[in-house]
Amino acid sequence: TPADQSAPAREVRLVARPHGWPEPSDFELATSELPELADGQVRVRNELISVDPYMRGRMNDTRSYVAPFELGRAMEGGAVGVVEESRAEGYAVGDHVLHQLGWREEAVVDAESARVVDTDAAPAPAYLGVLGMTGLTAYAGLVRVAQLREGDVVFVSGAAGAVGSVAGQVAKALGASRVIGSAGSQEKVDHLVDELGFDAAFNYKDGDVAAQLAEHAPDGIDVYFDNVGGDHLEAAIGALRQGGRIAICGAISSYNDTEPAPGPRNLARLIQVRGTMTGFLVPDHQDLAEEFAERAAGWLSSGQLSSRETVVDGIEHAVDAFLGLLRGDNTGKMLVRV
Ligand code: NDP
Repeated sequence: TPADQSAPAREVRLVARPHGWPEPSDFELATSELPELADGQVRVRNELISVDPYMRGRMNDTRSYVAPFELGRAMEGGAVGVVEESRAEGYAVGDHVLHQLGWREEAVVDAESARVVDTDAAPAPAYLGVLGMTGLTAYAGLVRVAQLREGDVVFVSGAAGAVGSVAGQVAKALGASRVIGSAGSQEKVDHLVDELGFDAAFNYKDGDVAAQLAEHAPDGIDVYFDNVGGDHLEAAIGALRQGGRIAICGAISSYNDTEPAPGPRNLARLIQVRGTMTGFLVPDHQDLAEEFAERAAGWLSSGQLSSRETVVDGIEHAVDAFLGLLRGDNTGKMLVRV
């Protein structure tokens, strides 16, 4: 009814730029009236919204590959929702769509920046996780950036998280001879080995990362998929074999730093081992999306790839979910059910 259409919807706004770790007071849950639909737009009721580490960077007032969030306005991010009203061809009421106006209950979305997803083919959370940007990040990082070869020994940090858990399993599926993961709790370590097929895993909070890596990869590693940076990166450089390759995906150990973190002390080792270290951003690898979707569907049905999500209920807890992600509360993709 028209009354429903103008009902205020809740959204999460950034109201102060965090210095160091974000505080709940940096955010505000507010209501806003949705504008009328224009041609080419759909009104979407969000069901699931994604919280991601890169959003921490958008909270700073610094130029990056994505613009900073604007103060006093709803934040943005991946979301899956249901079309409630459509003025766009190809979008019917009831369709599920993947779009970029997360952090809110309802959104008016330009259809050209959205995509209809088939929730019979795969559950909605998969489109924000294993079959979405997360999965493609893992795939592109391994295949294109790290040039993974059969028989490689692979180390993945942040291995129980969204990207890391896919990276480890995909490395196995592509013929890695041994996959080692690191994560921040014994429960996550058990999950990696018992459920995700990692050959070995360790809790980086239990002690020196380099020593633990050496224990689990006594002959060194060929590929390091880096989600963490810091001491993990230094340990991986120290373990790199001849021709080893490092894909720098993320550096979450430094995202809340207020001063630049020092780099690895052993960089010069890359010379002796003729190693490479390459940063990458998933939007540059969209051309691999179709290939990945096909292969991922196969791995999901064969059981070589499985995905788990950590789902927090309620838009009023979206900030808790984001802060929890930075602390490591999640196993697999962290999502908020609206
Ligand atoms: P995750 O699901 O991995 O969640 C973040 C995880 O980071 C937490 O669960 C926590 O797990 C771990 N963590 C937090 N602080 C530390 C720390 N100090 N040291 C080690 N681990 C820590 O998030 P995503 O999978 O979405 O992202 C993983 C990484 O990939 C991030 O660095 C992100 O920025 C990057 N990324 C990069 C992309 C690109 O295009 N280059 C695209 C997408 C993501 P634990 O309990 O193990 O500590």
